Amino acid sequence: MNLLDVIGNTPTIEVDGVYLKLEYTNPSGSHKDRTALFMLREAQRKGLKKGDYVIEYTSGNTGISVTWISRVLGYRPIILVPESVTKEKVTLIKLLGGEIRFVSEDMDGDEYAREIAKEVGGVYLAQKKNLANFKAHYQTTAPELYSQAQDLECFVMGVGTGGTFYGIGKYLKEKKENVKNIMLIPKGSLLQEKIFGVKEEDDELLEGFSYHSLDELILRCLEENIEDKIYVVSSEEAIEGMRLLLNIGIPGGPTAGANYFYARKIREETGCRVATIIPDLIFRYPKIMEKL
Ligand code: PMP
Repeated sequence: MNLLDVIGNTPTIEVDGVYLKLEYTNPSGSHKDRTALFMLREAQRKGLKKGDYVIEYTSGNTGISVTWISRVLGYRPIILVPESVTKEKVTLIKLLGGEIRFVSEDMDGDEYAREIAKEVGGVYLAQKKNLANFKAHYQTTAPELYSQAQDLECFVMGVGTGGTFYGIGKYLKEKKENVKNIMLIPKGSLLQEKIFGVKEEDDELLEGFSYHSLDELILRCLEENIEDKIYVVSSEEAIEGMRLLLNIGIPGGPTAGANYFYARKIREETGCRVATIIPDLIFRYPKIMEKL
């Protein structure tokens, strides 16, 4: 067995009619190991060679996964992160051998990543529009979840790039005509403004969700009507969800809290068997830990 073979095949547990797929059990600690592996394998097929630079723009978890896998496979990662990202994620990326570049609020991170890729002759992975991100979940996370929770009736998850929701949602629709896919979008995001025409603010932004852009994978997902319903999730609800997760022994991160909060709510209101994802753990977010 190779180190990268440890990615995926994560467990799914059931708590009071809610299925939780524990993606934090991936080796670098999140579902993004799957995305990074699929994007790097795709880049290899297109000619990426040992010693080449790979560039990614990310709120952290993809950066950790891309850096870790690059180290195993012999690539040189340059990771662009927003200035607001937690210190712990940045430190981990550096320890794993990644080079960090910060993106301030007034910069276009996507454009900056393309410039760097040009400058160093590297490959920009661009998870927000890279179909390999969607495929990672359509071909691995989704069939695993389906085989672990065949009687699920509803799937709920918040979106960052949308790759996970799109991949799992599409697969489930193909397997189960009556499944209900519920997309969570963060309060105060551009998506909320586009879909509901409401401009709001939230006191806390949940790392991992998408606030400032309308990205290609999410737009494709909406165009294909993969979602049956969309709810807006607030940071307050996510933090409450983290508390509820702790009650069942899972120290999930903020997006895990958001997912669980709505999974429970839907279960309680409809009686449906609901599945969701626990993307990562609380330890990457020490500031939020203090608020619990
Ligand atoms: N939760 C966490 C902790 C994440 O890092 C991400 C990805 N940014 C997501 C949820 C959302 O996943 P996706 O990008 O597939 O929508």
